Amino acid sequence: MKIGCPKEIKPQEFRVGLTPAAAAEAVARGHDVLVETAAGVGAGFDDDDYSAAGAAIAPDAQTVFADAELIVKVKEPLASERSLLRKGQVLFAFLHLAPDPDQTRDLLDSGVTSIAYETVTDRAGGLPLLAPMSEVAGKLAPQMGAWTLQKANGGRGTLLGGVPGVPPAHVAVIGGGVVGTHAARVAAGMGADVTVLDKSLFRLRYLDDLHRGLFKTQFANTANIATQIALADMVVGAVLIPGAAAPKLVARDQLATMKPGAVLVDVAIDQGGCFETSKPTTHQDPIYEVDGIMHYCVANMPGAVARTSTIALGNATLPFLLALADKGWRQAITDDPHLRAGLSTHEGQLTSSPVGEALGIGA
Ligand code: NAD
Repeated sequence: MKIGCPKEIKPQEFRVGLTPAAAAEAVARGHDVLVETAAGVGAGFDDDDYSAAGAAIAPDAQTVFADAELIVKVKEPLASERSLLRKGQVLFAFLHLAPDPDQTRDLLDSGVTSIAYETVTDRAGGLPLLAPMSEVAGKLAPQMGAWTLQKANGGRGTLLGGVPGVPPAHVAVIGGGVVGTHAARVAAGMGADVTVLDKSLFRLRYLDDLHRGLFKTQFANTANIATQIALADMVVGAVLIPGAAAPKLVARDQLATMKPGAVLVDVAIDQGGCFETSKPTTHQDPIYEVDGIMHYCVANMPGAVARTSTIALGNATLPFLLALADKGWRQAITDDPHLRAGLSTHEGQLTSSPVGEALGIGA
């Protein structure tokens, strides 16, 4: 099969859909791989790396979209890319169609068969192509929060791990899923005094068993959240209710109960944020202050470490990509119901019920 990988054109997106290692695996199985020139530079891969892997280099996106039967990307196609998609072609990428009627309409009009990373499932009920990005964002959260806590950045001037004779900072992590677990591990590793709050006792038991002593756990009711945020130097928002907007767990008037210069890191901002005062920010301008409390709310945190994120995403997508290329999409989704869960559009038909419900279109 002809696999094509265009360069990402969304602003500030430095990841790439195919690593040279993944390209080599596909080539070894007899597939043709076409990569747009400079597609990998943001992640530290140059054209020579892809050529060495056996891929051909295309001069522009038009060539990739025209030649390839299977397009692999990171982010959803922008309007200019959507106009290049066609019936009989397969698109494999993050799509996030539910809040995006324009993209959905264009994908339906193009007739492309689209498979969304974010709805591919696994046997444990997880989202295996979303998880690596949550791991990255979780590990970054205390790092960015620690930077924000520095005095010059508007923070309280507290060192996360303290020093001999000065106690460490308090970190509250609300939501103990993939993001929360990785955030708690890193914050504890930096020496902070960490408490993870979750409304799932099952999850808290699991975390307590696994990380005995590394951090504390507490049930996430309103009173406990109020106590923890008043204590905290840093609060990491890491909740998720699949398919829904994030619940607002800290109201604006509660900021007055917090220590001046404390930091809220709202990782859940891509689902609307779990603090009332959160609004999306960018890597260029990541932080702002409300009522004396610093906020870090970057909606695409993994982009800060594009190389790690690209490799982590590539590790997760590779088995699905190879199945699509080896078997063709129809057989691949027939053999694997978890990949089938990613099928979003096909020849003008919407095939994802949650997207249909969100947009009021029959699926
Ligand atoms: P997850 O499903 O693994 O974990 C979510 C956890 O939140 C679960 O343990 C759940 O029990 C808990 N939870 C739900 N409602 C709660 C509540 N009211 N109080 C306390 N806990 C509650 O999800 P995840 O992969 O860890 O993702 C968390 C969030 O981070 C999501 O919104 C995801 O989209 C976002 N995310 C953002 C970025 C970014 O760049 N900003 C990157 C990756 C993920």
